[in-house]
Amino acid sequence: MTKKTLGLDDLLHSYFLSVSGRESDILRALREETAAHPLSRMQIAPEQGQFMALLVQLLGATKTLEIGVFTGYSSLAVALALPAQGKIVACDISEDYTTVARSYWQAAGVSDKIDLRIAPALETLDRLLESGEAGTFDFAFIDADKQNYDNYYERALQLVRVGGLIAVDNVLWGGQVADPTVQDASTEAIRAFNAKLLQDERISLSVVPIADGLTLALKR
Ligand code: SAM
Ligand code: CA
Repeated sequence: MTKKTLGLDDLLHSYFLSVSGRESDILRALREETAAHPLSRMQIAPEQGQFMALLVQLLGATKTLEIGVFTGYSSLAVALALPAQGKIVACDISEDYTTVARSYWQAAGVSDKIDLRIAPALETLDRLLESGEAGTFDFAFIDADKQNYDNYYERALQLVRVGGLIAVDNVLWGGQVADPTVQDASTEAIRAFNAKLLQDERISLSVVPIADGLTLALKR
């Protein structure tokens, strides 16, 4: 028994996956292709994709937002969990990374659910707000440039409905957030973001130590 979250060594992590991992063939194929990419570490872990898929089902989500697509693992995990009429507005600036994503969305039969907007995400979010989509999203996943996390969060908080969920990735940042000698801009931005959310009365909060840390903020 333990009163604090277990650290998972390789043996326990393998066991954890062996008793819980339900990665589909298409997600596995995407993960294996992404593994050859020099920036493969940017992809979320499969257990996190499975967790987010469950959250989307729990919310009964039909309209979601993704900020940071890369090769498409998280968007594919969410798209597969959405009902047939479900939609994701997916934001990225890279045509190159998202070419891989598009091919897997196509292969999985979920392309129609995903509206990919290639532009700085802040522009896409402001456009959604200008077009009257505040309060219409059930779920948002923030996983792009860390220095804009607070900007993404403030917009996402307007775009999700009351009872909608914002999930924010990498909030434990490989442990660097806890090391005061690390003071680069991304680490400082995540630290400030974490401190802000703890005090934010507009949301119910849980920071889940899955993968690199996933903040769940439920809009009140
Ligand atoms: N969620 C993805 C997955 O599961 O594989 C990983 C996303 S990766 C950590 C971050 C992505 O954010 C990259 O694809 C990058 O091109 C994108 N990005 C960086 N700055 C951005 C910006 N200002 N607007 C939109 N996307 C941005
Ligand atoms: Ca991430």
